[in-house]
Amino acid sequence: MDITYNIQNFKQNLPDTCVLVAVSKTQPVEVILQAYESGQKDFGENKVQELLSKAEALPADIRWHMIGHLQTNKVKYIVPFVHLIHSVDSLKLLNEINKQGKKLGRIISCLLQVHIAREESKFGFLEEDLWHHVNGNEFKKLTHIKIEGLMGMATFTQNTELVRAEFKTLKGLFDKLKSESGDLRDMKILSMGMSDDYAIALEEGSTMIRVGSALFGKRIVHG
Ligand SMILES: *Cc1c(COP(=O)(O)O)cnc(C)c1O
Repeated sequence: MDITYNIQNFKQNLPDTCVLVAVSKTQPVEVILQAYESGQKDFGENKVQELLSKAEALPADIRWHMIGHLQTNKVKYIVPFVHLIHSVDSLKLLNEINKQGKKLGRIISCLLQVHIAREESKFGFLEEDLWHHVNGNEFKKLTHIKIEGLMGMATFTQNTELVRAEFKTLKGLFDKLKSESGDLRDMKILSMGMSDDYAIALEEGSTMIRVGSALFGKRIVHG
């Protein structure tokens, strides 16, 4: 794998409206550094411990994205420096992030993860629960959170029409929440698309793709 080539090639072909998050989970710091030196500044990790040790070892201007399921008791460790949390999937987690942000006087940027896949294993808010929270003004109390947008993961399948339909659903929800709910009017980020489905995600309006194996090669350890 020629990381420098992959990063540059990817960026060249990406529309200006879309940000590439390089998913560096399981990759050693030397590999991340190589990507960084090729101009990549946004990196995504899915485990808090791994994120912490990498952030400590790598340049301070890296923008770290938390993309994996986050437990409330670990929020405090990442809140001081995290750039964007993609995987916010409950009100309980939002409240904890808000609490920790308040302690530090830092506004934490978050995406609401929405459950769009057929698979049961994927985390995320259900659409009706999001509307419930919006209508109940739950998001208004979050003084130290900025909800920047939505994140979703499509079903892991070869069925590209299913994947496309799931992304379309998420984009539709994104537009509807922006136009119909005051609290979420300013959302700008739609995080959808991974190595196998980012091309479809881009066609369906993604503004942020999370790509791991297409940049770094297949992970030995699945994470
Ligand atoms: C691992 C992971 C990715 C990247 O997956 P690839 O198929 O390697 O591109 C994207 N998003 C999340 C939430 C992940 O856990």
